[in-house]
Amino acid sequence: MARQKVAFIGLGNMGGGMVLNLLAAGYDVQAYDLVAELMEPAVAQGAVAHTCAEDAVAGADFVVSMLPSGKIVESLYIHDTRLLEHIAAATLVIDCSTVAAGNSRALAAAAAERGIRAIDAPVSGGIAAAAAGTLAFMCGGSEEAVQAARPVLEAMGANVFRAGDSGAGQIAKICNNMLLAVHMIGTAEALQLGVNSGLDPKVLSDIMLKSSGCNWSLEKYNPYPGVMEGSAASRDYQGGFMVKLMQKDLGLAMTAVADSDSNAPMGTLANSLYGAHASDDAGNPDLDFSSIQRMFSS
Ligand code: NAD
Repeated sequence: MARQKVAFIGLGNMGGGMVLNLLAAGYDVQAYDLVAELMEPAVAQGAVAHTCAEDAVAGADFVVSMLPSGKIVESLYIHDTRLLEHIAAATLVIDCSTVAAGNSRALAAAAAERGIRAIDAPVSGGIAAAAAGTLAFMCGGSEEAVQAARPVLEAMGANVFRAGDSGAGQIAKICNNMLLAVHMIGTAEALQLGVNSGLDPKVLSDIMLKSSGCNWSLEKYNPYPGVMEGSAASRDYQGGFMVKLMQKDLGLAMTAVADSDSNAPMGTLANSLYGAHASDDAGNPDLDFSSIQRMFSS
């Protein structure tokens, strides 16, 4: 059988790692990024670099995109570049960018008008998971389209979920990240309360790990410096999942809260606390999101 062709658009921090896993899995990759140098590592592994998105999608079985925002996704596919006009009906579009559910639905609807299937497949897992091929994909689209995307997604990730119809992948992603923000903040303030009251943060962490306060932030991502070897907190909050990306996801969560007329006081508070943390110091937006601990310790 002929090798399948994937057009990959957006080879930044995440896409740069994902594309290498597609190449390693045996796909032919036609790459495009606005920044030509970002395509060099993929080209070294056999990808073909293109100078425009229209050329990159020619003859592709799949188009995968990993872009910064919903505005860019809509501009590329629908409004400005009008990339959908250059994509064959048999091609499956898989947008892995984190965007509003409304952007994903607009893309799926515009694609459907041309007989093209398009799914949203945002990811959980950061740059390290993208490089290691261990991302979790949360998909929104028809069962048939998600099933067709599965081999491509499995080449880049460890878990592929279908959350529901178009846009549902984005909703699953922001529900997860809103909860992550809430339990990270709760973990940080509980640890600080213990420390301020004379407890050793490591001893308190060990107690809570075996008690009802146990949660993912405490177990895998302890925000208190020095408690967990290898954590972002233990390397001055460098690397990891940046505050500015958490802010982006909480902003999308607030849009979903408003759109669905939901009541989310904890998520809303998390959104304001991360906003305050980001604006408190010029460098904070680039720190890991567990640096919210500093709000309570200073
Ligand atoms: P990034 O800015 O590093 O990469 C985006 C790339 O898209 C850039 O290389 C940019 O040049 C390119 N680009 C922008 N507009 C383009 C266009 N019109 N045509 C072609 N290329 C274009 O961002 P990232 O960290 O890789 O994140 C990508 C997406 O993944 C975002 O939606 C983000 O929210 C999501 N995400 C990121 C992380 C993370 O830890 N970085 C984790 C989960 C999800």
